[in-house]
Amino acid sequence: STLPKDARIFVAGHRGMVGSALVRRLQSGGYTQVLTAGRSELDLLDQRAVHAWLQANKPDYLFIAAAKVGGIHANNTFRAEFLYQNLMIEANLIHGAHLAGVQRLMFLGSSCIYPKLAPQPLKEESLLTGPLEPTNEPYAIAKIAGIKLCEAYNAQYGRQYVSAMPTNLYGPNDNYDLNNSHVLPALIRKAHEAKLRGDKELVVWGTGSPLREFLYVDDLADACVYLMETGAEDVLVNVGVGEDVSIRDLATLVCEVVGFEGQLVFDTSKPDGTPRKLMDVSLLASRGWRATMHLREGIALAYADFHRRVSG
Ligand code: GDP
Repeated sequence: STLPKDARIFVAGHRGMVGSALVRRLQSGGYTQVLTAGRSELDLLDQRAVHAWLQANKPDYLFIAAAKVGGIHANNTFRAEFLYQNLMIEANLIHGAHLAGVQRLMFLGSSCIYPKLAPQPLKEESLLTGPLEPTNEPYAIAKIAGIKLCEAYNAQYGRQYVSAMPTNLYGPNDNYDLNNSHVLPALIRKAHEAKLRGDKELVVWGTGSPLREFLYVDDLADACVYLMETGAEDVLVNVGVGEDVSIRDLATLVCEVVGFEGQLVFDTSKPDGTPRKLMDVSLLASRGWRATMHLREGIALAYADFHRRVSG
């Protein structure tokens, strides 16, 4: 089953990295009625407002890319807001979508929903098999509740509400705040600034040995639209590239792309975090989708976007 090109498709959270990539992908795919609502127009924490907006605008399909997100520091500090706001946003949108007769929606989360010690690569069936990483437990609990909400509306009301869980994302509209960002945008910014200052060294946190997987956000958007178009019957689908890279190799690659020629220095007083975080993407592959962006090319595109933003 495919989506009509004139279907009304609401992207909640269109100003974020994921939401903006979804809007780009839908528009380039020829969809003519991509609906968005700015924060001043619609407060997603306000149940009445969300339900009224959905009734008035009658979307046929919905992507939930709206969420309170951040790196390890933000997640661990604003624990109440991460739990409360994410629960409210998803509950208002999922229940509101059901009331408004939306048959298909896609709910976005992240790989931190899986238990801290789940076997690698992370499989969908590892959900709720063990304790979570404590630093982002509030975010993860909210996202797990969202997955279960989708599952419950499917079981009870025959809806087709799918949850897509991406690995670490990067790309246009990323967050480059050094206190709150993830490693890839942080390294892009650090290498750029080190190059401008003519530094001899670039400081990388930890030992450089942890392994991480990085998905370009336009690949995620493509996977999400693909799953919506093909009407996957799965409840939960991982989205990743299926390959990881050490932080040391990542830092080397970023320096090459940015053109910083100094040395890497490892600050081992900073935490490594989990040694490895890789998604099992065999379910998505069996549905016929694979990521296509190469890491070096994706970093070059992300750096170009960063460069545009800092140079106004
Ligand atoms: P994680 O995937 O949840 O551990 O979160 P991050 O993306 O923040 O960090 C991934 C890995 O990159 C960790 O081992 C960090 O110590 C390492 N890392 C190296 N340099 C940096 C940096 O400048 N910022 C961040 N956030 N992480 C860094």
